[in-house]
Amino acid sequence: MSDRLGVVLVIEDNPYSLELAAEVLEGADYFVLRAGSAEAGLAIARETKADLILMDIELPGIDGQGALAQLRTDPRTRAIPVVALTACAMLGDEERLLAAGFDGYLAKPIRTASFASQVGGFLAKRGGQR
Ligand code: MN
Repeated sequence: MSDRLGVVLVIEDNPYSLELAAEVLEGADYFVLRAGSAEAGLAIARETKADLILMDIELPGIDGQGALAQLRTDPRTRAIPVVALTACAMLGDEERLLAAGFDGYLAKPIRTASFASQVGGFLAKRGGQR
């Protein structure tokens, strides 16, 4: 794990979207942890040191905002930056998600050519802030 650029946990219930994001990041030398639900992602986040979490907003069961709230109340996961990954790319969404406590926002469908560098930007920001 340690020789990679970083460990990214992707929480996404659409199997195709999950695999696409994961494979793009793996191709850019990130170590990727995959979760198909918030519940599974929360369990992984508590047990594994992820450097960044990419969180789908619309999930079955606990949704992305509910999962973010749980991450922020747990000392083991409180400091991990969480970037929202959402298809609802309407004007004002970014503001709403940042106000909800997300560290950033990436619109779906992801742009495969720039996705890894966007993720790298969030990781670099984290290094400076914490
Ligand atoms: Mn979804």
